[in-house]
Amino acid sequence: MQRSATPERDPSAAREQAPLPGARPRLTVVDPATGEAGRSYEGHALEDAKAIAAAARRAFEAWRTTAFDDRARRMRTAAEVLRARAAEFAELMTEEMGKLTADGLAEIEKCAFNCDYFAEHAAEFLARRPADLGGPKAFVTYNPLGVVLAVMPWNFPFWQVFRFAAPTLMAGNAAVLKHASNVPGCALAIEAVFREAGFPEDLFRTVMVPGRDVSALIGDANVAAVTLTGSVAAGRSVAQAAGGALKKAVLELGGSDAYIVLEDADIDQAATVCAAARLVNGGQSCIAGKRFIVVAPVREAFERALVEKLSAYAMGDPRAPATRLGPMSSVHARDEIHDQVQKSVAAGARLLLGGSLPDRPGAWYPATVLAGVRPGQPAHDEEIFGPVAAVIEAADETDAIRIANASEFGLGSGVLTRDLARGERIAAEALEAGMSFVNANVRSDPRLPFGGVKHSGYGRECSDFGIHEFVNIKSVLVQP
Ligand code: NAP
Repeated sequence: MQRSATPERDPSAAREQAPLPGARPRLTVVDPATGEAGRSYEGHALEDAKAIAAAARRAFEAWRTTAFDDRARRMRTAAEVLRARAAEFAELMTEEMGKLTADGLAEIEKCAFNCDYFAEHAAEFLARRPADLGGPKAFVTYNPLGVVLAVMPWNFPFWQVFRFAAPTLMAGNAAVLKHASNVPGCALAIEAVFREAGFPEDLFRTVMVPGRDVSALIGDANVAAVTLTGSVAAGRSVAQAAGGALKKAVLELGGSDAYIVLEDADIDQAATVCAAARLVNGGQSCIAGKRFIVVAPVREAFERALVEKLSAYAMGDPRAPATRLGPMSSVHARDEIHDQVQKSVAAGARLLLGGSLPDRPGAWYPATVLAGVRPGQPAHDEEIFGPVAAVIEAADETDAIRIANASEFGLGSGVLTRDLARGERIAAEALEAGMSFVNANVRSDPRLPFGGVKHSGYGRECSDFGIHEFVNIKSVLVQP
């Protein structure tokens, strides 16, 4: 049976340890590079989390009337705090989910840029918009909604949160963060950034509760709306709870991004782009390229080039500047990847690179290339959340588009071709995805809307589209 989602994956070996009802969970971090236990945190019982949501609601009542200039000043300070503490935060990500130090530093800079971007543009994005009714004064205004609950994943522990938080706070909302259970230190650090930047004490709060408490929090009267970035299974659960409570939800879910390689592509350049797309964050990205759909005349040449490029991504110490592939987030997540690879090979895929478990402690998995990938294999039908590239042969452009779209997901996508008009046409009109890039790997950017279609979710983050998700778009008419 085809799984409709990345399976119930436990990304952390350090989940909360099955607390009794009403008891506080204990979260113990496990270093993915070594498998050794690290810091331990006391989490929150559901009642604690509800009290925190109530405090955030009180903070919102004052915050909602603040001026954009005031909000922007604090948001720019948040960017400064991030930049000043970048090394510390990058190390936290490495300890908790194995991120390369270089990637962690880049992630913090991206968060800071995002804070500056919304500090600069929120007033313009949310300015009153006049409507010409030919008589009475009429306009559209954007009021904040209240407390927005954010349920976030571990893979970009800072970026996922800041891309939600900066526009949401700038719009006059408050926020409660329920971060993934394996990144408690990151969750608390983000709360501290907003406090250090001068935001009101309870405006941005972290709750450390397990995923099973999320539905009850969505139903809480102090929570106005919810955003989740995570798996399809979690998205479905949040959508049901939000639907039952009639609350607004934004869902950023999984992806199995297809990159179409056409016969007129520069094969070496295409393989470079595809290797980078697949290995971003060790392959643990919703918008990592996962399926490489190559037209028959260039399939073999592309496979050779992709193997060559991915061979250069050797596993190594995540703190060493030259390392290009660190550990996976947990041994459990790594084992799930290996299982999907083995099942794909058993169902006929050809292993061209990697695919074997290294004999060392920690959550290591090598860069892997599977060729001959077809329907019925996990590499074809499911999201693989690790460094595993699946090469699928297509007869021609039409067939490649058909295969790319024959997926339950629709997050990112790419086209590799020397014919830019052809690439633009396919990207803009043919691919069923929220983002389509030509000759470049898909990446998120505060200036471009980010999100998906189909089981990749709904709603958008980033840009003016993102800041309009958590506001009341209100029509006002004044009859003289
Ligand atoms: P996950 O298991 O869904 O976890 C994400 C968050 O949801 C965590 O905070 C988790 O809490 C919580 N959660 C888990 N089950 C839940 C439930 N039934 N109800 C409510 N909340 C629940 O996802 P993951 O495996 O850690 O992350 C990888 C997935 O996220 C991939 O599918 C990836 O593609 C997707 N993702 C999407 C985007 C995007 O922007 N579209 C970005 C990044 C990742 P606990 O940690 O406590 O379980």
